[in-house]
Amino acid sequence: MYGAVVGDIVGSYYEWHNIKTEDFELFSSESHFTDDTVLTCAIAESILNMGKSVPRKCYATYIKAYYKRYPYAGFGQMFKNWAEDEEITVQRSYGNGAAMRVSAIGWAFESEKEVLKQVYESCYYTHKNREAIRYARAVAIAVFLARKGMDKTYIKKKLERDFGIKFKPIEQIRAGYEFNSRSKYSVPPAIEAFFETDDYESCIRRAISLGGDSDTIAAIAGGIAEAYYGGVPDDILNKGKFLLDGGMKKVLNEFSERYIK
Ligand SMILES: [Mg+2]
Repeated sequence: MYGAVVGDIVGSYYEWHNIKTEDFELFSSESHFTDDTVLTCAIAESILNMGKSVPRKCYATYIKAYYKRYPYAGFGQMFKNWAEDEEITVQRSYGNGAAMRVSAIGWAFESEKEVLKQVYESCYYTHKNREAIRYARAVAIAVFLARKGMDKTYIKKKLERDFGIKFKPIEQIRAGYEFNSRSKYSVPPAIEAFFETDDYESCIRRAISLGGDSDTIAAIAGGIAEAYYGGVPDDILNKGKFLLDGGMKKVLNEFSERYIK
């Protein structure tokens, strides 16, 4: 959870100032949490309050409530239209917004089947789209397998086989990589950044060095890296926490207490 949040915060500056190197300051005076953090908290609070199985309407209700609390966190126009509607409608976005917020599902549920089901429920109203659901599921399953202690070779094979993902080395795609928040464009390289590196910090550096939708790519990579390496290093974690508000920290801490420790 904090792995995704810190990835989002570090990436927030570089989304608007794309870089193609891993040598950069993690935090600046302009670093801030964005929609990725807000909706990660929304999913976490849904799970905290509902216990085991969360109905799709509950995810949608929390997602809307969090949007209303943080409407200027960087949400896309399509999502805003959905969130501001009085009714809960079904939207079919293929954007990476579904994948960026699901790390809590990988932590809270105890079988792959439940993880897949809960991701579907979380996607139902905002991303009822095969591409968005497939990649969001891949991210949550990666978190799930990482926290269960599976190694990278196993996780990679599983994602290739179950979700048809073809991973390409970051080195090969970096130069021509541009901003595109479509799931199939931004989720595989985010996961690849995790495969290619050996600790949390180098993972988010590699993710951001790609350019493009940096906060989301780093949030996805960071969420998996946290599960695999057993947390976020304290110095980085504390700087990230400093940029969150009390309500978010309360949810993230409660979630960590219940599901991560
Ligand atoms: Mg964002």
